[in-house]
Parts: sequence; structure tokens; C-alpha cells
Amino acid sequence: MKLTAPFLVLSLGVLAASTQRDRPLPNAGGNGLCRSQDCVSSAKAIIQNMNTAIDPCKDFHEFACGSYFKRTKVPKGKNKVGGLSAVEITTNKIIHRILTTDPKKIKGSKGYPLNDVSRKNLEKAQLDFASCMDESRINAIGRRPLLNDLKQLITKTFPVRNSLLAPLLPGIKTPVETPPASQATDRDRLTSALIQLIKDGVEPLVDMTVTYKSTNPALQQLYIFQGRTGIARRYYEDKKALKTYRKHVKDMFTLFLGTSGSSKPGKKRTRTLKNAKQLANYVVDHESRVAKINMTGDPGENNLMTAQKMNEINPAIDWPRFLQATAKTDKASMASQNYQKALPEILKNTTDAGLQVYFAWHIINVHYSGLSAKYRVPMDKFASLARGEVGIYKQPKHVDHCVGVANRNLGAILGQFYLSVAFSPEMEKKGREIIDAVQSTYRIELGKADWLDEATRKNAIKKLEAIDEVVAYSRFDPNVASAQSLATYYRTLKMRKNDFYGNQKRARAWRKAKKLAKAGKPTNRRGMEDDPQEVNALNLFYPNQIFFPAGIMQKPMFAAHNPEYLNFGGLGHIVGHEITHGFDNNGRFFGPDGKIENWWTNATATRFEEKAKCYVDQYNKFTIVGPERKSLHVNGTLTLGENISDNGGLKMAFKAWSTRFASDPKGLRYNNKLLPGLQKYSREQLFFINLSQTLCVEDTPKYLSNMLRLDEHSPARARVNGAAANSPDFARAFKCKRNAKMNPAKKCEIW
Ligand SMILES: [Zn+2]
Repeated sequence: MKLTAPFLVLSLGVLAASTQRDRPLPNAGGNGLCRSQDCVSSAKAIIQNMNTAIDPCKDFHEFACGSYFKRTKVPKGKNKVGGLSAVEITTNKIIHRILTTDPKKIKGSKGYPLNDVSRKNLEKAQLDFASCMDESRINAIGRRPLLNDLKQLITKTFPVRNSLLAPLLPGIKTPVETPPASQATDRDRLTSALIQLIKDGVEPLVDMTVTYKSTNPALQQLYIFQGRTGIARRYYEDKKALKTYRKHVKDMFTLFLGTSGSSKPGKKRTRTLKNAKQLANYVVDHESRVAKINMTGDPGENNLMTAQKMNEINPAIDWPRFLQATAKTDKASMASQNYQKALPEILKNTTDAGLQVYFAWHIINVHYSGLSAKYRVPMDKFASLARGEVGIYKQPKHVDHCVGVANRNLGAILGQFYLSVAFSPEMEKKGREIIDAVQSTYRIELGKADWLDEATRKNAIKKLEAIDEVVAYSRFDPNVASAQSLATYYRTLKMRKNDFYGNQKRARAWRKAKKLAKAGKPTNRRGMEDDPQEVNALNLFYPNQIFFPAGIMQKPMFAAHNPEYLNFGGLGHIVGHEITHGFDNNGRFFGPDGKIENWWTNATATRFEEKAKCYVDQYNKFTIVGPERKSLHVNGTLTLGENISDNGGLKMAFKAWSTRFASDPKGLRYNNKLLPGLQKYSREQLFFINLSQTLCVEDTPKYLSNMLRLDEHSPARARVNGAAANSPDFARAFKCKRNAKMNPAKKCEIW
């Protein structure tokens, strides 16, 4: 979520006030001034962020966030500030407090009570966190544990004659044993090695996952993909990119395996590794061969087959033994069949020693995260570059890194504490009300959309009504509110004092085993992909589920005692956005139970495409100020799905709120009181102001220009102004003149 640098707008602050003249303040009933703590602090934040000198009909985002931008600079070491990342900082502070407080001293609340089992669970997360925070110990240990893992590879998992690695590791006699002449083509040995590596979460040659199958989302299924490559496949054709990658692999072999050189004071530390280039070539050449294989038209969706059948396709691996040992199953979807067919030949042309190097590289790539920053940072930095991010990697503060580690490994345990100290059943109940209200509004609006023919409308409503929602936290596997369920869930994951590397390794192996154990089991529809503290919301096209973790239900999106117009502008908009994803340019291809299915008549599908094009053209016109003040365009095609969802979300949330308000104008049931200091703004206006303020984001120009290529979300300014300009409700609320910048005659609309 991002924003463009502000552009100058004439000061027309008077206009905002004058729009209110004909709207007497309703003080009757329960709709007086809101003086709850939530209201007072929300009002203060809203006032502080707004720049009322700006005409809301010219640049609404600047009107709502202008003062925030004036006083905010992206701090050193960060790429952006504000918006959801600001909420994340608040959440991480809470998690940090949980991780550093004596479990016995955390009281918790009645709504989500804690007990002795919860506290015992928390000790596990605290051990992990403390092991991460002990930087001096991690620094002193250095690369030793990783070298031990490499020794394990060389001596036990995959010993070879003439190992290139053995001479580099102290304490290994070469040859370690007398392995057969060719290991790469010895099916039993190769299979055993892969089984061992995969148990540790290392996946060379094959990549395994368990997920829903889009033709049968009710069932979890094992997928076998080709082994991962270090950079995207297209870069193996790009000489410059390949050279950079080769250098990275060489440098990293040197860093992890080179000699430390002199450590005498005054002498420069040197690291030498004579054959680093040779090692790098083994890795990059193998991956280049893989990258050349044509994988198109080979998604593996409908390729569920027995392990015996897999043996026919790729006889290099003993599939029945491999599947049984890793996922206790005898069938899988074999994606990338061209790769599997080619693998025996690739292995025939690979030396054992070369394959061992390739395995070692995978071990380094997975286990480096348990080492000190000296080893971690160059790897993370390159991973960022490989994702296409140019020059924006920032090393997180150590404490943030460790909170992230604990969240990743034992997030649900921390989630129970988060619910207990920062969330309440009242918030959950009110959050649900918003979700229900937006969903019913969606139903009504689908009934009115005149461009849908009856057949498509019926199917759209069917899909809407089939959406499953998971609110605040996972109810099953694990049930986050139950300490016992969490204890069972994490039972096999052991955390040890002072063993950061081991803790990360065990956590990774545990996660992999947990994932693979789901193969062949029914899909968990009461679970949540995210932990409760996650500041996020999700729509999974299959199996047609939406998720709203407790973490997204906080200010400025939501507060239990805030007026509804603020909550609907915040959380309501997010709910509408997620529902709309199920009907955007990607989601529309999935049916009510999440199967890929065409539920559109041709004529309606054509109208959808025409309407979508309107958004593409509109957002293509938005520009941001990039590095060196260059003007850069938003990519309307890349961001289409998010833009459709922003627009649908805004419309549905507004209609949902106004319907509720109209049904209760005196505030007898719903809180729609006015805000102190903001009485001159109508509720409608404040709905939009709060919506915009959830997207007060300041980014560095470099980050913005990167995200323009990579992020499917438009920059924050385009998100807010694009959707507002398309909204007749917005134009009415601010009385924007026809053809004002924020009220163009041509408006785009799908949902
Ligand atoms: Zn989205």
C-alpha cells in the first residue's frame, strides 16, 4: 500500500465546511456526541491526519492524509511508514510484551481466558524468542551448526567418491566411505537421500506441498513440483542476471565454507576458497538445465496418479517408498511432468560430486536463517533481489526479526495471548455484524446489477451465499482459543534453550511434516491460514473462504466503541474488498464451492471484460513520483483485481452502513454518534475520510517504483482516489461538482 508524492492543489477548505450548511446536526435520540475513549482518540487521530486546506473534490487522499504526510518521513532503515504497516508495529509491540513477560504474570481476560496450559505453551515461544535474542551467543557459534549439517550430508546422507566439499570441512576424512561408483543414478541411494533432506525441510530436485485441488477443494492433496531454482526461470536466459546469480552462489560458498584466515589484530580477515567458482558452476549449471525444460501447459491439476505410475514417468526415484516415507500416501499430483521425464537424463549427466554440491547449496539456502546476521543478511538481500526488488532490502532491527521468528514458528500460541490481552468477544461480535451487513448488502446489489443476465445473477448470488467466513481466529487444528488444542497441535515441536539454529531447524521440519500429513485428508474449513494477530485479510478462491484475523480488527479500521460510519469505512471496506475478490477478474473463474467453473453466460462475460477495461484505462493514467522525481505510471492491468475489489468494497461498505443508519436514524440500536471536534463533517463524509486514512502511507520513491512493477495493489493515492472518483456516493457526500477531478462524468463500475 503506497501513495504518490503530493501535488499542489488550490486551497479550498471553505468548501468542505460549506457542504454542511444544509445538514442540521441530529442531536435527538442516542445520536449526540460520542465521548467514549475510542471516539476521543479516533477523532484526535483523524483531525491530526487531515489537511483541510485541500479541496476533497480535487484530491481526496491528500485532503484526508495531507497533514500526516507533512509530519511524516520514512525512517531510516524502512521503505514505508503508515497504513497497515503502522498497525503491524502496534501489534508487534503487544507480541513482544507477551514474549518478554513472565507467563504467570499475564492475566488475560474473561472473554478468552488463559490457563496453566496456555502459560506452558507460551514458555515454548519464549524459549524460541530468547534463543533468537541472544545475539552474542549466535555470533560466537558462527557457521558451526550449518557445517555440521553439511558434514552429515557428506558422511551419511549422500556420501560420494571424490567429494569436492569434504576437503573443505575440518575433521572429515576423505574418502568417508566407499560409496558405489555412481550415486546419482542409484535409485535407492538417491531416494534415501531425498527422504532425509525433505524431512529437514530441504527440497532439492523435488518440491512437495499439500493443498486443495481446484477440481475438488474438499480434499487435500499432495503435489510434486520440480525442484526450486534460485532465480526465476526466465533469468537463466538473461546473461547479466545469470552472471549476478553465479557470483552470489560463489560468494556464498566462500562465506559459508571458506577459511576464516588470520584473526590477528591489525591483519585483514581474509576468506579464501579456491574452488568456489567450480562449486557455483555445479549449482547454476544444473538449475540452468532445469530452467530450459518447457513446463507450460503442465499445472498438474488433474495429474493425480499412483506412485507406481510416477515410477514410469521418472524412474530415477523410488516413488512408492518416497511418498510413503514423506507423506504416508501412495498417490500424488505430479506437476511438471516434462521435468520429471527429463530428470533421469539430467542425473545421468551429473557427477555424484556435483549433485552433492547441489544438495549442499539447498541445505545452505534453507538453514542459513538460523545463523548470525553476518550469514543471514547477504542471503536475505539476494532473496529480495531475486523477487525483483532492486535496492530496497532493509535489514530489520534484531528485535523485530526475533518477534517475526516467534510469530512464524509458534504464531497460534502467541495468538491465544493476543486474543486474551488485545481482543474481546464484544469486538468479535461487532466485527461479525459488519461482515454480515456487507454480505447482505452484496446480495441486494447483485439483485440490482442491470448488466447481469438472470442466469449469471443467480449463479453470482449462489457463490456469494456459499462463502465461508472465518473470523478472528482458527477454530480447528488448532482451535486458538483452547490451550489444550494448541498444546496438542505443537506437541511434537521442541524448543531448546540457547539453541537458535536447532530451534529453527526443528520448526521447519515440524511445519513440513504438518503440511505433508494433510495429504488425503479433508480440507479444514474452520481453520485460518493466518494467526489471529496477523494484520491482514484474505480471500481463498478455493474453497471460497474469507478470513478476517483479529489483527485487522483494530484502529483505524475498527474499534468496539467507535461509531459505525468509521468502522464501516475501515473494516467494512476491507470486508467488501475481500468479498469482491471472489468476483474480480481472477475470482470470477471459481464457482461456489471453489472449483474452477464457468458460471457466466457469454454475453455477461463480455460485458464484464468491457467494464474491467474501464478500470485498466483509468488506473493506467495514475502516476507516482519515482526516484529522481520521474513520473511513473501505475500498471492498470497488473492491479486490475485489486482495483475491482477496492471499488466494489467501497460501494458495498457504504451501502451497508447507510442501510443500517437509515433503519435507526436516532441511534437506538447502532452507534452513529458524532465525533468531538469533527461535528462539521457528516457521517457520510467521515465514512470516506476514515476509509482513506487506513491508507495514509508514505513510501520512499525507490520502494514505490519497485512496487509499481511487483505489487498487485495500486499505490495508496490511486487506491483511494480511484475508487472515490468512481463513487456517486462519494460525490454526493462531498457535493463535488460534476466533472470535478473526484467526480468525473465517466465512472467505472462492475460491482
Ligand atoms: Zn486485495
